Amino acid sequence: MARRRQRPCLVCGTLTRNASRCDVHQAEWQKRQDQIRGSAHQRGYDTAWRKTAAAAVTQHRAQYGNWCPGWQVPAHAATDLTADHRVPKAHGGTDDPTNIQILCRSCNSRKHNRTA
Ligand SMILES: [Zn+2]
Ligand SMILES: [Zn+2]
Repeated sequence: MARRRQRPCLVCGTLTRNASRCDVHQAEWQKRQDQIRGSAHQRGYDTAWRKTAAAAVTQHRAQYGNWCPGWQVPAHAATDLTADHRVPKAHGGTDDPTNIQILCRSCNSRKHNRTA
C-alpha cells in the first residue's frame, strides 16, 4: 500500500495528507476564500463592473471630452475620470447606466460613499 507523505498543517501543525492544511483548517480556509470573493462581489468591484465603468468613461469622454461635472464644486476640466455609482452599491445601488455618473478621481473620493 503506497503511503503519501504527510505534511504538518500550516495552522495547527497536525500531520495531514492534504496539500497544506488539516481537514479542519482546509475547510476553514476555503470558507474564508469564498467570503473574500463574495464580499468583493457585493461591493460591486468585480469584472463586470470594471467593464461597465470603463464603457461609461469612454462614452462620457466621447460626449463631453475630459470634463468632470464636479461634486460640490463647479464643473471643471479633468483627465482622470472615473465612473461612480450615484447610489452606492452598499446602499442598494445597481450597475445600471442610470445609476452611473462620471466624476474625476478627486471628486469621486470626496463623494466617497454618499448618495448624490
Ligand atoms: Zn490544522
Ligand atoms: Zn472633479
